[in-house]
Amino acid sequence: MSKIAEVKTHPVSIPLEHTLWTAHEELKDSSVILVEVRTDDGIAGYGQIHGSPQKAICDWVARFGELIRGMEATASVAVWERLFALTSPRPGGMGGRDGVPPPLPRGARPQVMAAIAGIDIALWDIRGKSAGLPVYRLLGAEKRPIFTYATGGYYRLGAPDGVYADELASFAAAGFRAVKLKTGGGTVADEARRVRAVRERIGGSVSLMLDMNAPYDLADCIAFAHAVEPLDIFWLEEPLHWYLQPADFVKLAAATRIPLAHGERELTRFTVRDFIASGAIRYVQFDATRYGGFTEALRVAALAEQHGVMIAPHTAPELHAHLVAAFPRSSFGVESHGDAARDPVAHGLFRERVEVRDSHVHIGDRPGFGMEIDWEFAKRHRA
Ligand SMILES: [Mg+2]
Repeated sequence: MSKIAEVKTHPVSIPLEHTLWTAHEELKDSSVILVEVRTDDGIAGYGQIHGSPQKAICDWVARFGELIRGMEATASVAVWERLFALTSPRPGGMGGRDGVPPPLPRGARPQVMAAIAGIDIALWDIRGKSAGLPVYRLLGAEKRPIFTYATGGYYRLGAPDGVYADELASFAAAGFRAVKLKTGGGTVADEARRVRAVRERIGGSVSLMLDMNAPYDLADCIAFAHAVEPLDIFWLEEPLHWYLQPADFVKLAAATRIPLAHGERELTRFTVRDFIASGAIRYVQFDATRYGGFTEALRVAALAEQHGVMIAPHTAPELHAHLVAAFPRSSFGVESHGDAARDPVAHGLFRERVEVRDSHVHIGDRPGFGMEIDWEFAKRHRA
């Protein structure tokens, strides 16, 4: 049985040519942390983490690597539980007198859950490689194309609405049947006008999602939803302020016929659970590369499937396609970035990118997640 021998990180970051904005944040670079786990019999598994600060996350991965060295490399659930248990107090935990590190600081939770994610994904890659099977086949899925849409419309300060309309129309021209617009950066009236400009430019046959990044309280969000309802909107993503809860999403859902999507910012399945079980959301977007990893994403997906909520993971299509493939009854699809200028890392990191054609991701037959990393690229852009 392979044992975990070594855990390493490779942080990668590329400055963007132009600074972009979501409604909430400035984006100056495109970044990822690759996690490499090696076994004592020579298998290398690779995970990826989207999070910050990169240095803090890499430090947690290194610390966790020491704690899991010698564990069975295919025991991804056992590793997950051992690391997650450190996030809570336990009898005898003060001062680490029981020989295990003391409970981890509350303020570090996002970085800790990101570190667990990267290690967990690398272990799933190892599970596939040691079995000689792609991850989707380990999960009992068949090889089939997975629907994907393209995200764009990141704000360039002062740009006219037509810039975004042209950008999203270019994704549709490249074959995407659904496109997602960043929105929420202005007043309800300004944003409704911007969304209308995009809808008019892309025409009626392309689905249009709105990625809002939590810009409004409940009253403004209901007003916005009513303003854009005539524009045939596929979903409203992260519509409400960050502190609002499933009960608030239930009220929004009752006030608009546009379905709601949420999940990319949730750290564990336990907070996603109440969004799903309350009936507030129709699409769940838990991101294995941000928090909790593939193991946690599978748990979220299984719950979603039982509640008739569609699985639509945030980013990393080459990885999340394996997850979505395993839930044919409730698979919506995965997110792609339509534009290398927005995400040069995702477009340059792999020697062979997963094939995206006709608005579908075509997963291959290579073992694990099938990612061939371009190490020259990773070294050149090491953070
Ligand atoms: Mg989003």
